[in-house]
Amino acid sequence: MLKVGILGGGQLGRMLLQAAANYPVETFVLENDEQCPAAHLCHHFTKGDIRNFDDVYEFGKGLDALTIEIESVNEDALEKLENEGVKVYPRTEALRTIKNKILQKQFYAKHQVPTAPFEITANLEELRAKTDFIPAVHKIGAGGYDGKGVQLLKTADDISKGFDAPSVLEKMVAIDKEIAQIIAINEKGEIALYPLVDMVFNPDLNLLDYQISPASLPEKTLWKIEAISLRVVKELKSPGLFAVELFVSKQGDVFVNETAPRVHNSGHHTIEANFSSQFDMLWRIILGYPLGNTGPIYPSALVNIVGEEGHSGPPQYEGLAEVLQMDCAFVHLYGKKQTKPGRKMGHVTILSKDTQDLIHRAHKVKQTLKVISKQ
Ligand code: ADP
Repeated sequence: MLKVGILGGGQLGRMLLQAAANYPVETFVLENDEQCPAAHLCHHFTKGDIRNFDDVYEFGKGLDALTIEIESVNEDALEKLENEGVKVYPRTEALRTIKNKILQKQFYAKHQVPTAPFEITANLEELRAKTDFIPAVHKIGAGGYDGKGVQLLKTADDISKGFDAPSVLEKMVAIDKEIAQIIAINEKGEIALYPLVDMVFNPDLNLLDYQISPASLPEKTLWKIEAISLRVVKELKSPGLFAVELFVSKQGDVFVNETAPRVHNSGHHTIEANFSSQFDMLWRIILGYPLGNTGPIYPSALVNIVGEEGHSGPPQYEGLAEVLQMDCAFVHLYGKKQTKPGRKMGHVTILSKDTQDLIHRAHKVKQTLKVISKQ
């Protein structure tokens, strides 16, 4: 039985382990928090820091394969393990490219992958010299995630919001839609594409509102997105499961925003909505099985359940019973011990053939299911 380790024990690790239960595989998790969502679903839990060389190296030494659920892992340890014969998904080289937004953008430019025009800024002083480039988006090279390393610079007055660290300054795109392409590639280079996901943002909060899949797009746009995503994964030269996030501009152009070299929030619906989920697919790749069927069983909507504003502490799920009684709604709560404003605590997938019904019920779930704290 193969021994496979996951770096990180959050909800992505948890859902990976749920899918692992279908296969002969011995699972290991490395994570600092013993109470994390994945801790009790693996065969072996190791407490340790995924960013620390020794912790990652010691954890990975006896394993056959390793994967990640977050990019902020110690890639030097991964590289050493890889050189010693541990299979790493994604390959360390691909992870290095993606982990740093500067290297990632340069990778797109080098391989003629359409992406918004950009410049590199080493510090605030350099940013100040580039006011001509505004309106733009400033993205910190290393260490940003979930919007925390991104600043919209609409006018020159916004420049002080920029990062005083190596960053990408990217032209602001007039976005019509944000789309995700989940794409799988195995050791043989065989590829499977999932139906596209429309990530619908709330314009007031600039937060993901809900996701719909398959996305409704003109066929030409769809083909462009598929071709671009294929190029990204082929050039990354790594087996694994990837989420390519793209913008479709108001003019109909397609730009890659960023790529995640791992299972991703934009693929959670595949658990119920597609024949082979993104988690199942990654196991197939790691275990050397044939790729799965990415076809949709039903169209779906996905709503993230996040901690309410003003509530921190042990979570309580208001409206849960009501959502559990909705037809074709699938509730996932991640078992996090603490809620915080905006923290991802769970998600709900809704299936329906009717897009209007999906949108309506996505809003209904958002209004009904709230994560508050006990006190
Ligand atoms: P993160 O990695 O933190 O998720 P992203 O690079 O995806 O950051 O940016 C977060 C959000 O900011 C995007 O989903 C998009 O709405 C907006 N954004 C990012 N880049 C641009 C751009 N070039 N033009 C317009 N909006 C952008």
